Amino acid sequence: MTNHAAFAAEDAVTAVAAPAQPGRHFASFPPRRARDCRKAALGRMDLSTSGVLMAGSLLETMKASSPRHAMSAVGADHEEWIENHPSALEWFEGVLAAAEGKQIVMFLDYDGTLSPIVKDPDSAVMTEEMRDAVRGVAQHFPTAIVSGRCRDKVFNFVKLEELYYAGSHGMDIKGPTKVSNHKAKADEILCQPATEFLPVIQEVYKTLTAKMKSIHGAMVENNKFCLSVHFRNVEEDKWDTLAREVRAVLDGYKELCLTKGRKVLEIRPSIKWDKGNALEFLLESLGYEGRSDVFPIYIGDDRTDEDAFKVLRNIGQGIGILVTKSPKETSASYSLREPAEVKEFLRKLVKSNGTKKD
Ligand SMILES: [Mg+2]
Repeated sequence: MTNHAAFAAEDAVTAVAAPAQPGRHFASFPPRRARDCRKAALGRMDLSTSGVLMAGSLLETMKASSPRHAMSAVGADHEEWIENHPSALEWFEGVLAAAEGKQIVMFLDYDGTLSPIVKDPDSAVMTEEMRDAVRGVAQHFPTAIVSGRCRDKVFNFVKLEELYYAGSHGMDIKGPTKVSNHKAKADEILCQPATEFLPVIQEVYKTLTAKMKSIHGAMVENNKFCLSVHFRNVEEDKWDTLAREVRAVLDGYKELCLTKGRKVLEIRPSIKWDKGNALEFLLESLGYEGRSDVFPIYIGDDRTDEDAFKVLRNIGQGIGILVTKSPKETSASYSLREPAEVKEFLRKLVKSNGTKKD
């Protein structure tokens, strides 16, 4: 196992981060024209950088995601990692200073960020306190939930109509259904770059559901434009069988690809569209493209969130915050340990914004 693989505690992350520079992420970026999201997604994924699991790597990657396999590599490097990815709470004043005078736009992953990771994905509810914190943020800043779940499902968890929702890893984006404080033409925002894949995704869902019945604890979740095969509750000696079954089903579908999240395999259309594209699309839709006075904050815990962290690094604007209790390779600049800290961070942000306006 390489150091790279061993470093990941809960999930393998492929991006190699440059050392973080807290408070130095707001250089301007060149103006771009708003795009048609379906056209933009026509390109195929770059398999070398997309995190797509290539042949032979599947079981190894699943094992690398297990804390039992990864913890031994963590201890000594933790201090150095925290230095490079400081706590967004402990360095809160630095975050505020970087955002000073700029329009904050908030992007939040759901599972593991706003809600704890639980054994049954259908039970991943968020607390009322967290809902209040997100509601508070949305009153001050445009706020989007960016999740691998299907949009309807994540909306049913969050239940806030004033937010933007990007479900299915950003392949299903919709603006608020309720008038918010922000002036964007929110209800006109709709982006579904993978609609042509719906029939094949549903077909694979049926096949996989049937195949997984023989593997105790395996669960296939239908997220509309993508599928999730959860193996959190599968005994480790059955992972190889599960991996082979999933791979065998996908062999017949070259238009789909396989990626890995936290104890989950994701089946997605092979198009160039991810959470990073969703972030860019929303910034453009909100009229913030090319503006140096905008400060996006993206908070997420998973490998798929790395695509959004990379976008922020590339545009040199805003900050990415990785939610994790242990060191991981990441393109995020800051860290928070768990959803409770996310809630605290959101509350502090609202409080400081309110104080500023008084
Ligand atoms: Mg997550």
